Amino acid sequence: MQDPIVIQAPALAQKAQRSTREWQQADAAHFLHPFTDSKALAAKGSRIITKAENIYLWDSEGHKILDAMSGLWCVNVGYGQPSLVEAATRQLQQLPFYNAFFQTATPPAIELAELLAEVSPPQFQHVFFAGSGSEGNDTVVRMVRHYWASLGQPERQVIISRENAYHGSTMAGASLGGMRYMHAQGGLPIPGITHIPQPYWVEHGQGMDKDTFGKVAAGWLEAKILEVGPEKVAAFIGEPVQGAGGVIIPPATYWPEIQRICDKYGILLVSDEVICGFGRTGAWFGCETQGSRPDLMTFAKGVTSGYIPLGGVMVSERVAKVLIEQGGEFEHGFTYSGHPVAAAVAVANIRLIQKLRLVEHVRDDVGPYLAQQFATLKDHPLVGDAETCGLMGALLLVKDPATLTPFPAELEIGMVCRGHCFGNGLIMRAVGNRMIIAPPLVMTRAQVDEMMALIRRCLDLTLADAR
Ligand code: PLP
Repeated sequence: MQDPIVIQAPALAQKAQRSTREWQQADAAHFLHPFTDSKALAAKGSRIITKAENIYLWDSEGHKILDAMSGLWCVNVGYGQPSLVEAATRQLQQLPFYNAFFQTATPPAIELAELLAEVSPPQFQHVFFAGSGSEGNDTVVRMVRHYWASLGQPERQVIISRENAYHGSTMAGASLGGMRYMHAQGGLPIPGITHIPQPYWVEHGQGMDKDTFGKVAAGWLEAKILEVGPEKVAAFIGEPVQGAGGVIIPPATYWPEIQRICDKYGILLVSDEVICGFGRTGAWFGCETQGSRPDLMTFAKGVTSGYIPLGGVMVSERVAKVLIEQGGEFEHGFTYSGHPVAAAVAVANIRLIQKLRLVEHVRDDVGPYLAQQFATLKDHPLVGDAETCGLMGALLLVKDPATLTPFPAELEIGMVCRGHCFGNGLIMRAVGNRMIIAPPLVMTRAQVDEMMALIRRCLDLTLADAR
């Protein structure tokens, strides 16, 4: 009898040689993509990405593309890092899976927990593992409610979040998120979650200086706490810099004031670090850049540089002590909580970030250089604002930069610009009239220059269309 593995190998090799059209047909016939209008995509056909190296991708037509979005905000160490591949291979051979439910653990999961405690702010000594950022945020909802119940305050159920926040796609994650178009599908948000406006100066703060606006925006949290009743509020959750909402960088006064308000009412502060973690903002975690001292931190993406799925929640001693000593059994967990292969890749990824000094590289070198170069785009007739935080940035596309007058929404200026990026070998994302980037942290100054030239070209093409 023939070995089935030997039979499959040539079949797979053959599939890799399908034409782009064949891939697109099979894709449209069977694959429902996330956050996608499947009918519109089928008419157009997916772009098929076939390989990657460093900060570049190649598609099935052989085009080279500069990936200024790190996949989906995740490939922090860049593509093709052998140490991550080796860690996965070694662990797959040694022990591809075992769970952490029944009083068992695996060495990579323990090692990762230890390493995460080392790189996190000092209040964090414990971690709960999940498979993704969404699962991490579901864990947050259950954990903060269980924490307050364990302290004899079960009425503390309400979690305050922000409009235009993104916290994932599960029922709790999407409810915590403040995307109205997501709430519109599936009867969200779930009970006990409420939102305040985002600290977006362009939308809410024009006419105010930014520092004043930061305090005003944080004040909306206090107003909401008083409206709900402080004795009913369990936690506040926010991304240090809102990523999917359009890289909304809050004024420097915002997070310290949020911290003061949470302290005043004893409310848990949750920092969603799924995008901002692991060096993105020029510190290990975005809360360190933005000035808060969270009780819980959700992470995913950059923890493995996206090479393999992993997420979780860092749990401060304030919370861990209560959960451990008074909480009894926490009736929550996932098959892949502490998956040994994912954990082994995460350990290799964090060690690589340390070895390459990527946090320092972002903080002291390429981050400031990107900020400087990005600021030069303010001279472009389409650009109303250009701001960065570490290696994430946003351009505000407007009709009149002097007055920040927007283009008519039906023009979909961001999508026009994204289309030009697509055609010119650059991946940037459009969020309304904001064009955003979050390139791999290994990016060099020369690659910043290369990206800037591509961005300028795409802005010029967009301007020509808009006139
Ligand atoms: N939180 C934030 C801030 C995110 O940006 C995302 C995903 O983009 C998530 C949570 C959800 O993570 P996942 O897609 O891994 O479930």
